[in-house]
Amino acid sequence: MSYTLVIHGGAGNITPAIMNATQEAEYTAALHESLKAGNSILKNGGTATDAVIAAICSMEDNPLFNAGRGAVFTKKGLNEMDAAIMDGSNLAAGAVAGVRNIKNPIRLASEVMLHSGHVFLANEGASEFALKQGVEMATDEYLFNQSRYDQWMEIRDTDFTQLDHKGDNLKGTAVPDTGHKFGTVGAVACDIHGNIAAGTSTGGMTNKRFNRIGDSPVIGAGTYANNATCAVSCTGHGELFLRAVVAYDVSCLMEYKGLSLHDACEVVVKDKLVKLDGEGGLIAVNARGDYELCFNSAGMYRGMCNSEGKEMVAFYK
Ligand code: ASP
Repeated sequence: MSYTLVIHGGAGNITPAIMNATQEAEYTAALHESLKAGNSILKNGGTATDAVIAAICSMEDNPLFNAGRGAVFTKKGLNEMDAAIMDGSNLAAGAVAGVRNIKNPIRLASEVMLHSGHVFLANEGASEFALKQGVEMATDEYLFNQSRYDQWMEIRDTDFTQLDHKGDNLKGTAVPDTGHKFGTVGAVACDIHGNIAAGTSTGGMTNKRFNRIGDSPVIGAGTYANNATCAVSCTGHGELFLRAVVAYDVSCLMEYKGLSLHDACEVVVKDKLVKLDGEGGLIAVNARGDYELCFNSAGMYRGMCNSEGKEMVAFYK
């Protein structure tokens, strides 16, 4: 039986001009490490859900990415993280928003899915549940990242919020691009049992209002999985991805309109999102192991591997 794993580390203004050879090597190694973590589970017959969690934890532990250890700062100078996981075999889902001092928010989302009786917990309620479940915590020092802090310092006295990969605010007025191109992380997988899953984890946007929640943890917007159609994880300007209900829209185009995985992703990312000025991208897989890495931005940190021994990592268009 075959399996497929696809990951992203954020989409945006990622071009050769903003990356030097050292950075390229660091990102290449980080993406391969994440693929390795998920692959080791899938090749031993593990579930798509476990592979997604392993691949995402690897990126959450790496300060290169805007998730877990590398999470950006809010307007109050805090790290508030969002994450979601969905199991396409039974439509089980778990999500957390605005969590602080959690080492791996994707693990907390999984705990919510499996043990809370709920789907979505936020802020103090999510923290209290994390304590109860014995989820690993992280200190402010562990989560502190100098380049993220510098990014925040540049705009903390303004009303700008900044996507990791693009100088931008919610009203559409650009602020200078700081040159830091790091991102939200996500994974989708199809396991040897033919089940699929999706997960996404993020620090959101630099200088975001406190308690702002993006698309990543919202089931149907940034994250969705259904064995009958596809598993999707998004990255990009969350406000637009929320309004476009991106992940579920890809699934709906397949379910109700009979589009292929490829065509559904193309319509949503290259047409519908573009018309809304929604910059970003997504990764998707179906229960046959077909996969897509689709984006309308200059680049997306991404990678895939499968049971046939294929493995690739890329950044640019
Ligand atoms: N979509 C994320 C958010 O808006 C950001 C990203 O993907 O980089 O919170």
